[in-house]
Amino acid sequence: MAKLISGKEVSAKVRAEVKEECEALKAKGIRPGLAVIIVGDDPASRVYVNNKKKACAEVGFVSEEYALPEQTSQEELIALIGELNSKPEINGILCQLPLPKHLDEKAVINAISPMKDVDAFHPSNVGRIMIGDYHFLPCTPAGVMEMIKSEGIEVAGKNCVVIGRSNIVGKPMAMLLLHENGTVTICHSKTKNLKEVCAAADILVAAVGRPKFVTADMVKDGAVVLDVGINRDENGKLCGDVDFAAVEPKASYITPVPGGVGPMTIAMLMKNTLMAAKIQNEL
Ligand code: NDP
Repeated sequence: MAKLISGKEVSAKVRAEVKEECEALKAKGIRPGLAVIIVGDDPASRVYVNNKKKACAEVGFVSEEYALPEQTSQEELIALIGELNSKPEINGILCQLPLPKHLDEKAVINAISPMKDVDAFHPSNVGRIMIGDYHFLPCTPAGVMEMIKSEGIEVAGKNCVVIGRSNIVGKPMAMLLLHENGTVTICHSKTKNLKEVCAAADILVAAVGRPKFVTADMVKDGAVVLDVGINRDENGKLCGDVDFAAVEPKASYITPVPGGVGPMTIAMLMKNTLMAAKIQNEL
């Protein structure tokens, strides 16, 4: 039976640390600020934005929400980002993705000042992560690493397999495991022998976006299984990319969905915003 790595517990610890540091900053007259931009009325995005605002309030940050209508133009959105880039009370800027189809996501990400890019999506931050000289790490992969570390799981020399190669999760996840000296394989929809590749993993990260995609025959006995997926199953119930009931008995550690990687993502966003405030105040 696997030990559950609770994202609720690990994220609460991260948030408590951020809150403590935030209080120390307040004593110096500094209050970290996060601006969250949401365009349109996608219900999932609304839930994420509300959770981010709640987390800001909990750790003591200022949060500003910019809820823009669906038909907002590229120019209007870029102009708002420009204003926030030069607003001293705002240390972090986040534009909730996905954006409506008429907006150019890449251009929007590029418009955010790299020093305020607390999602770490800007090409300059992506490059910094590649060479291991970074201020911010992308929140979801950083959250997965925090969960691994919370259990003292050694990554060095381990066979690490990441399923998924998105810019937001899969690729940076692989890079962070590599920085910890894992031997990393990235799988995607064109991977041959996916089952065999996964079954050789000591550490398996699933970031596919398909309910219960990782089945027991894809998991080695004693593997550490981290489930990034957020999906709905056939009954509309929230579930991950891993068939939890079947995989859990084989794994040594496993993350649940919900209550796993999800809460970590927001906690790491708080950590990045705190870091941004420190850097911008030359601390
Ligand atoms: P993407 O859709 O951008 O990427 C999915 C990846 O899975 C792609 O690289 C794709 O391969 C690969 N894939 C799809 N089908 C297969 C297959 N049959 N075999 C092997 N690989 C396959 O998703 P994201 O990376 O953005 O997100 C992944 C999941 O994580 C989603 O469920 C998302 O909701 C969740 N998520 C959770 C977060 C959290 O906070 N917990 C944050 C962000 C995402 P290819 O590149 O070849 O198409």
